[in-house]
Amino acid sequence: MGLLQIGVDIGGTNFRVGVVNGLDIIYEQRVNADFSKICKTHQADVAWKEIVRITSEILNKVLSQYPEVSSIGIGFPGFIDPKNGYVAQSPNLPGLLNVDLAGDLTKAIRRPVIVENDALAAAFGEFQLMNIPSGEGLIYMGLGTGVGGGLIESGKPFAGEHGFAMEVGHIITTQNGRLCGCGNYGCMEQYASATGITKSYEDLSGEHLAANEIAELAKRGDLNAKSAYDIAAKSLAQALAHIVKVVDVKRVVIGGGVSQAWPLMIDSFNKQLNADLIPVLRGCIQLEVSSTGDQAGIVGAAWLAKFKS
Ligand SMILES: [Zn+2]
Repeated sequence: MGLLQIGVDIGGTNFRVGVVNGLDIIYEQRVNADFSKICKTHQADVAWKEIVRITSEILNKVLSQYPEVSSIGIGFPGFIDPKNGYVAQSPNLPGLLNVDLAGDLTKAIRRPVIVENDALAAAFGEFQLMNIPSGEGLIYMGLGTGVGGGLIESGKPFAGEHGFAMEVGHIITTQNGRLCGCGNYGCMEQYASATGITKSYEDLSGEHLAANEIAELAKRGDLNAKSAYDIAAKSLAQALAHIVKVVDVKRVVIGGGVSQAWPLMIDSFNKQLNADLIPVLRGCIQLEVSSTGDQAGIVGAAWLAKFKS
């Protein structure tokens, strides 16, 4: 039997833990834990202790069932400093600065822990689960509460020199646009994330609804709801055109909750992408919506643990 890893996919309002054997998740647990709220309602040091306590408690329970686990990989929604593995900053978990998640968890669970950006982990998971040849690459964009991105280049996860590579959600697509959690204005995630879709719809209709409720309205023909998804699709396509011009990777996977509404976005997306791409690249992009469900984040985090430790 091969060595087991644990992969953890941490989100703003919940996290998922999986025991991974090769490409199979042999055990999975979803934990409701609103880390975003904890960060917004507590001092940063108190919030951090609470996040480590909750995470290590669950991991210790899983490890007691699977003691043969050799290492743990964590996909975390934030900028991860490649020099020391610290979480440098997390736009959706405000207040956290230079926290040592890997070190604090290693102490609490007595196993090697590596931490990587959640979207990079998902990108690596998609790459493995899709059985892509090791010399090829993949661009991943996850449309959730925010928008994350990950790049696999020649089979290797590409984090950048400061851990900021592929922060695609913060590519500015609208001049003087909405204020973003990163401090700039007009970032793509202010339009193409679930939160962005809610804001667009609210600007148009005055009503505050969740992105999935807006998708239902759009399917029934509501023009404001359709516009909110058009705005999301165009912003995403603008950003992708820039990314492809820089990295020249043909395979693109769109994941995250908003990707379930892809049929509402595909026409506007393709139109904008073709308009913005260098003409010779039109038709060369192989884009698909993630078909791995929630598995990629867990499998990718586990494979990063295997890859790095
Ligand atoms: Zn931003």
